[in-house]
Amino acid sequence: MPDTALPNSWDARAKAHSFFGFTDLPSIRDRGTVVLTHGEGPYVVDTEGRRYLDANSGLWNMIAGFDHPDLTRAAQDQYARFPGYHALFGRMSDQAVMLSETLTAVSSFDEARVFYTNSGSEANDTMVKMLWFLHAAEGRPRARKIITRGNAYHGVTAVSASMTAKPYNAVFGLPLPGFLHLTCPHYWREGRADETEAQFTARLATELEEMIAREGADTIAGFFAEPVQGAGGVIPPPAGYFDAILPILRANNIPVIADEVITGFGRTGDMWGCESYGFTPDAIISSKALTAGYFPMGAVILGPDLSDRLQHASDAIEEFPHGFTASGHPVGCAIALKAIALVQEGLLDNVRRLTPAFEAGLQRLAQHPHIGEWRGRGLMGALEAVQDKATKTPWDPGLSVSERIANTCTDHGLICRPLGQAIVLCPPFTLTDAQMDEMFTKLGAALDEVFGGLTPSHS
Ligand SMILES: *Cc1c(COP(=O)(O)O)cnc(C)c1O
Repeated sequence: MPDTALPNSWDARAKAHSFFGFTDLPSIRDRGTVVLTHGEGPYVVDTEGRRYLDANSGLWNMIAGFDHPDLTRAAQDQYARFPGYHALFGRMSDQAVMLSETLTAVSSFDEARVFYTNSGSEANDTMVKMLWFLHAAEGRPRARKIITRGNAYHGVTAVSASMTAKPYNAVFGLPLPGFLHLTCPHYWREGRADETEAQFTARLATELEEMIAREGADTIAGFFAEPVQGAGGVIPPPAGYFDAILPILRANNIPVIADEVITGFGRTGDMWGCESYGFTPDAIISSKALTAGYFPMGAVILGPDLSDRLQHASDAIEEFPHGFTASGHPVGCAIALKAIALVQEGLLDNVRRLTPAFEAGLQRLAQHPHIGEWRGRGLMGALEAVQDKATKTPWDPGLSVSERIANTCTDHGLICRPLGQAIVLCPPFTLTDAQMDEMFTKLGAALDEVFGGLTPSHS
């Protein structure tokens, strides 16, 4: 199929010398790419001057919108003061020191220590290396396996992709050995016909117990979970889930790591997703909203137990041999300090204020005969498209239903994300009530348009 790009257009230039990750290539061949120049509040603007309400906050991260003056000023001031430094060899910027203090204070831990990375994937990789290092130092060199859940998303580096339980990683020959995946904790899809939600939760707990017994508790390095699965399609756990599985992990001395890359800093209506579900992990993985998306940065926040143990293990060989060139970048840290202040001084309240209208909008669109369920927590939500609501029969994947809905939304000036057969919404925390209405009105129109043109297949 010939590419529709006009010669010398931004579209043609974008395609000529750049690779797009996670992009449906036939779709950009037909429809073209979108090249953006700037943002205005929750909107982004392309090279043609078209405005799009970005109902995905960029990629979950731009929680304060695309032109927050406090964040750009924090960046400019810090660039003028000290535009770059690492956090290695006993040197670290004052901004990094202050951010670690702030992250400790806002974490759910009494005491914590922070290790900086440039992304969420690197933060998960770092956490796995920390676990391998400290288990070996404590005389358990066999404790190397990592447990995650089906549909989990933990990143794309070789280790974090192995933790990501998505079928697309098979093309890379992943997961690496020793990365174990449990059932995705999605009651609507994974629950059996005759199973209550409580029974489903109990079955998942039993599955974990059996996995630990089969593999041997002494071979397991850690358990990682997103409090609400994000890139899996916004999947909150079934009722009682963390209460059921945490005692099993604790009884087997398996460290529990909360991957809060999406859920951290207010997305679920609390500072952390683990607060929303009432548990305290052993460490928190952070990125995305940490800098409100204004700088690439990730952080591993170690709670008191892991922090002491890692310090001990490091003391024994006189260093922790790991770190990135731009770890704890002072500009990123200055932005993060401002972003956290914005969350504390109003953005978190906004999430709480907006959540009822957000849920009502999802609920209303879920009345549609081709929406199987709505789900979400705080300002992250999804609508699951189905061919048949009663039987939960999905559409033929060849119809690319969610991509069609997202493309129709884009045509109408709304960016939202297709994930499997779901449409995901995670707007900035600065959304106004009118912008919330605009989002649901445009999405509703796109659902009518796309479903109206599809003929269900009967088998
Ligand atoms: C996005 C994401 C990551 C990976 O972060 P990158 O910065 O893209 O490497 C890890 N975990 C979760 C839960 C994420 O949503």
